[in-house]
Amino acid sequence: MKQKLVLRFPAAVVEQPFIYILAKEYNVVANILKANINPRKEGSMVVELTAAPEEFATALQFLQSRGVEVSPLEQQIIWVEERCTQCGACTVICPSNALWMQRPEMTVAFCSEKCVVCERCLKACPARAVEALYLAGE
Ligand code: SF4
Ligand code: SF4
Repeated sequence: MKQKLVLRFPAAVVEQPFIYILAKEYNVVANILKANINPRKEGSMVVELTAAPEEFATALQFLQSRGVEVSPLEQQIIWVEERCTQCGACTVICPSNALWMQRPEMTVAFCSEKCVVCERCLKACPARAVEALYLAGE
């Protein structure tokens, strides 16, 4: 199984090699998407963890037993209209029509409710007018 999570580390444990332990002792592959780690300060990390279901559950128990707060990731796509050059590249590859070309004006529009967070537009946009926002769920 594969899941994106937000990990929050208390200052007391922030310097422990959790990613190494997950790989070595629990066979969990961690793909770090974002990290904010500083010595002796609270830290956070957005990770995508891949593992067999049983090992995944045991690994999460290990993290929580060490004081790491684990939350599911909620991801949201933001379209920054001011940066958009109206090139239309994202509207061609968006699978849900969340980014589309309005006619006859031929201007780009975005509807967050239609977005399935596939992230294709992030890679396609030459102007970095689309951003991913990571939020910790309950
Ligand atoms: S993340 Fe995917 S669905 Fe959402 S706007 Fe971008 S391309 Fe469309
Ligand atoms: S790819 Fe980027 S710059 Fe081009 S229309 Fe989409 S958001 Fe605008």
